[in-house]
Amino acid sequence: MTRPMLEAESVSVAYGKVEAVRGISLTVEPGRLVTVLGANGAGKTTLLNALMGVLPARGAIRFEGRDLTRLPVEARVAQGLSLIPERRELFSTMTVEDNLKLGAFRFRGTGGGGDIGEMYRLFPRLAERRRQHAGTLSGGERQMLAMARALMGRPRLLMLDEPSLGLAPLIVAEVMRTVARLRDEGVAILLVEQNARAALQIADHGYVLDGGTVVLEGDSRTLQTDARVVETYLGVL
Ligand code: ATP
Repeated sequence: MTRPMLEAESVSVAYGKVEAVRGISLTVEPGRLVTVLGANGAGKTTLLNALMGVLPARGAIRFEGRDLTRLPVEARVAQGLSLIPERRELFSTMTVEDNLKLGAFRFRGTGGGGDIGEMYRLFPRLAERRRQHAGTLSGGERQMLAMARALMGRPRLLMLDEPSLGLAPLIVAEVMRTVARLRDEGVAILLVEQNARAALQIADHGYVLDGGTVVLEGDSRTLQTDARVVETYLGVL
């Protein structure tokens, strides 16, 4: 078996007395696309923030065997982790191209970082819009820019928080195809989604959260036909 790239072991996170994530264990292997599904409030965003170091967590978080649990966000970024939050957090009054340049900020002065030409190859729409302010982009284009900007930091594990949120179905399909392509190009992906149908179509493996714990886990094909998943997360879509 391949050694996991990311390993979370019994991770718990509390907001005061309320435990939002309770003893979650998961792994992401190199080059794999793993999805975390669950309804509103299941604990998905809290889990991602704990893995990235935005929130303190109990338990253990390891990346390529190294313990990250107590490391700050910057140190985790330096190890190769990247998180695209639900809000996407672009600089609206800056151009698409300047947003991309900022994505390579941690390599400033070293000549490292992603290549803007490479991003335009992966995301042709961004090339057409390179001089436009990010604030003028459509929802789908903003998500593409958020992904391209994250890639400029050359992450080895990309975590995405609900990239489908607020997008029309056709655009969701396009965003998901892009996420799958990034996996095919070698970036390991942890994809948090409420849109279970879209996520399971591209994922290799999935975890279902409810009430802050993992209630179901399996390869995506098994999850797509699991009666509980179909009834709770796929049936209504
Ligand atoms: P969503 O899809 O709405 O983002 P989620 O699965 O990501 O849902 P979380 O946002 O992680 O869920 O929330 C998990 C639980 O923690 C919820 O009950 C939520 O109300 C609670 N919670 C989230 N953020 C805070 C906070 N800052 N303070 C207190 N409780 C919080």
